[in-house]
Amino acid sequence: MTDHVSQAKRSMIMRSVRAKHSSPELAVRKIIFALGYRYRLHGANLPGKPDIVFPGKKKVIFIHGCFWHAHGCPKGKPPKSNLSFWLPKFEKNKTRDTENVNSIISLGWKPLVIWQCEIKNKDVLIEKIRVFLDN
Ligand SMILES: [Zn+2]
Repeated sequence: MTDHVSQAKRSMIMRSVRAKHSSPELAVRKIIFALGYRYRLHGANLPGKPDIVFPGKKKVIFIHGCFWHAHGCPKGKPPKSNLSFWLPKFEKNKTRDTENVNSIISLGWKPLVIWQCEIKNKDVLIEKIRVFLDN
């Protein structure tokens, strides 16, 4: 596989991603746009309403906040108190996420899940998105 994103372009992408808006979804959208892909937002007619949709490729991207989707990473640790309230909520979210991904696959679409904490490591994230969209 050839790496068609040059070093210069990569740092350009990273600079543009670091600019003001820092919401995870916006950061991912900027990377995708800079890589030259065009997308649609919020596939309302697909299970789980994926954040980013590539209709021609039949691919979707879910961007998950680590807290609400219970990633288990440092950003996604459950709160220390009120666990009897939070844990069932997190379990429910996780179950729903899994169901959505399975439904997407069974409809013939390919999903990619990007976690909020992955946004920090731009190089790795850019590569992950590129490989997902190229293949
Ligand atoms: Zn995380």
